[in-house]
Amino acid sequence: MWGEQTKAIHAGERPDALTGASAPNIVMSTTFVADAGTAFSVEGLDDGNGWIYTRWGNPTVHQLEEKLAAMEDAETGVAFASGMSAIVATLFHFLRAGDHAVISDVAYAALSEITNEGIPALGIEITKVDTSDLEALRAALQPNTKLVYIETPCNPLLRLTDIGAAAAAAHAGGAKLVVDSTFATPIATKPLLWGADVVIHSLTKYLGGHGDALGGVVLGRKADLAPLRKKTAIRFGGTLSPFNAWLILRGLATFPLRMRAHQENALKVAAWLERHPKVRRVVYPGLPSHPQYDLARKQMKNFSGILTFQVERGKETARTLAEKLQIIHYAVSLGHHRSLIFYLHSKDLLDTSFKFATQKQVDSWHTFAGEGIFRLSVGLEDAADLIADLEQALG
Ligand SMILES: *Cc1c(COP(=O)(O)O)cnc(C)c1O
Repeated sequence: MWGEQTKAIHAGERPDALTGASAPNIVMSTTFVADAGTAFSVEGLDDGNGWIYTRWGNPTVHQLEEKLAAMEDAETGVAFASGMSAIVATLFHFLRAGDHAVISDVAYAALSEITNEGIPALGIEITKVDTSDLEALRAALQPNTKLVYIETPCNPLLRLTDIGAAAAAAHAGGAKLVVDSTFATPIATKPLLWGADVVIHSLTKYLGGHGDALGGVVLGRKADLAPLRKKTAIRFGGTLSPFNAWLILRGLATFPLRMRAHQENALKVAAWLERHPKVRRVVYPGLPSHPQYDLARKQMKNFSGILTFQVERGKETARTLAEKLQIIHYAVSLGHHRSLIFYLHSKDLLDTSFKFATQKQVDSWHTFAGEGIFRLSVGLEDAADLIADLEQALG
């Protein structure tokens, strides 16, 4: 079996049979000349069909899917136009009216919002729990629970969930475990090896890594994903552009190297922030001060590059940082080579994205986020320059 860096470069790729080109081609064609026996409905689609129509499958996108499957130790993968289209396709594939799903009460904001509104309107019952609390997770399971959905580390708290324990709980209840592993990446954690059934990544973040292409992927077993591709992905149409697939393939070549550098920089910046007089609290899974540091060490081989920190007057400081930072961009998103920072005000988020049902959930939020957090995605610039930039801006 190849190592991570060899897989990142070679898995899924081979020299072009016609020209001998060593780098992947971008095949932008939406349609392919077919033989007269080709089925017109996707119902007739099987592995031996060759390329027919790019929404059904495309050679450049396929190379990316093979590489990502190799990197996650998954049987197969389906690529999407964005992380959210991967998430929505997964929910639509596994859930029907009358089913129930347990969803992490803190997760990517758009997922939190559709599971507060749009998905329940379809007759699918949703329970939100703090999935780091295994008793709460077990208690939320019902006879009709089909899916348990977790994010670890979760966006934006960096709170962790024990994947092995969550998988055991989900399976004991007859449900599948889906893990959004965007923050961890396959370098840190391979959720399938801990017992998860499906892994989702936003390729827009670390895997693409350069802030220039949206994308998403669902990875898992062929038995789950072949019907997901045919019945949901192809028909719902959140197809990844071959051009974006090519950009993400290009980004992936250096992905393991980048993750090492992200972690190295994040550890330096986190340690510096912890000593800064204006910083009240730093949360980073790689710091012994993280409330779940033992779980982080058990489950993560790399602590990734995202940290949060709290200061006295968050909103005011956000205005100062947006104005004064020279290198770090005040912007949403994460996982890029450029460092990005954004302020998340607790009250605003609790009113919009996260509507907690219990005081315990509210308390857990405040344990990690206080009144608000700066989410800092530490990029690949020189750590000394990032620290100097924060120092001049924080004062
Ligand atoms: C960004 C993100 C998503 C959504 O991905 P898009 O590519 O923006 O649609 C989903 N989950 C997590 C954890 C993310 O950070």
